Amino acid sequence: MLSAFLGHASAIAIASPVVSIVGIRRPTYGEMKQVGVVEKHREMPTFPQSFPMNGGDGPHSYIHNSSYQKVAIDGAKEKTSEAILKNLDLELLNRNSDANILRIADFGCSIGPNTFDVVQNIIDTIKQKNLKEKKNNIGAPLEFQVCFNDQPNNDFNTLFRTQPLSSKQAYLSVGVPGSFHGRVLPKNSLHIGHTTYTLHWLSKVPQHVSNNKSPALNKSYIQCNNLVEEVTKAYEIQFKIDMGSFLEARAEEIVSGGLMILSGQCLPDGIPKALTWQGVVIDMIGDCLMDMAKLGITSKEKIELFSLPTYIPHISEFKANIEQNENFKIETMEEISHPMDYMPLTNHFITSMFRAILNTIIEEHFGDGVVDELFERLAKKLDKYPIDFKMCKKYVNYFIVLKRK
Ligand code: SAH
Repeated sequence: MLSAFLGHASAIAIASPVVSIVGIRRPTYGEMKQVGVVEKHREMPTFPQSFPMNGGDGPHSYIHNSSYQKVAIDGAKEKTSEAILKNLDLELLNRNSDANILRIADFGCSIGPNTFDVVQNIIDTIKQKNLKEKKNNIGAPLEFQVCFNDQPNNDFNTLFRTQPLSSKQAYLSVGVPGSFHGRVLPKNSLHIGHTTYTLHWLSKVPQHVSNNKSPALNKSYIQCNNLVEEVTKAYEIQFKIDMGSFLEARAEEIVSGGLMILSGQCLPDGIPKALTWQGVVIDMIGDCLMDMAKLGITSKEKIELFSLPTYIPHISEFKANIEQNENFKIETMEEISHPMDYMPLTNHFITSMFRAILNTIIEEHFGDGVVDELFERLAKKLDKYPIDFKMCKKYVNYFIVLKRK
């Protein structure tokens, strides 16, 4: 984190400003390597590894603070439609007089409203395709079932309470609680799977990051910012395992010819997360926690035991993980732009967005009452050290369509 970071940096006598993103000089990869690994003589506790977005529909909820993700989803809307029109064979439906069901699942749906837009777009596209191809003359009319998947402690009540009314006619909904790193649906039952802004969530914090005898201890950082090589390696391994499990589970659930659509964010090759604005913000959150520890609001030990179970892979690493799976044919693998990449975000927007994402995990680890103060401090720190968006490296946004062989 920034303060600890600067502490280390000054100890190795840095000569010139290197990367100035927030008005404070940050050390380079090489400098970080020289610094080495701070010893931590404690095991990280086993987290209940499920941290959904902030529930409800209050001012800090994901519902009201997910427009960054929504803009990306809107940006991929047309591509999603094109992919379905081009690649989905409606003949793969089991047409008969009793049932004509097309099943769609959104993995890691959270509480909306983004997931509703996603599934509506998919359904509209299939209806359009069906009408055009007129292949539904035989058998029962086409019906849609939508499986909304997320972790069991996701706020499913709010999800279904806020579902747009019109959707009642368009599809039948079902909640599917469970980790997408394993099977959550019956075999060969799914025609279209979709997931967005989810795959960076790992099934757990990598083991070595919590092992005080390992050089992969994450020191005082609260994320994998790619500044400590061993930590990055540990996260990389866990990500590979999790991606493998995700694709394996989907391969069992999706019917032959069915599609899996994935979108999200990666790092450009060779760029550490610490140099992206998102990485800077999370390091800043770590700094704020450290400030609070100095005041006795939390403790340094607690912070040292905390690492986020999230990992943003490099783009070629991500692609390699996808390519390794033999059950899917890659129909599309594109890099697309995020419309918000080219506009500076306000400090209020950034603070609210990260609070909606991290509220649950921070509250669970640091206890009640810390979150309000933490994000007030983040807002003040951002005011004092505004992010220089021009200096920050940008994430790569991917859009991938896989077809089950
Ligand atoms: N897809 C939505 C939400 C993204 S937030 C959107 O784009 O707006 C990430 C979501 O993934 C969270 O709701 C989180 O609970 C869920 N998630 C993370 N790990 C998961 C897992 N292993 N299984 C199911 N859902 C998971």
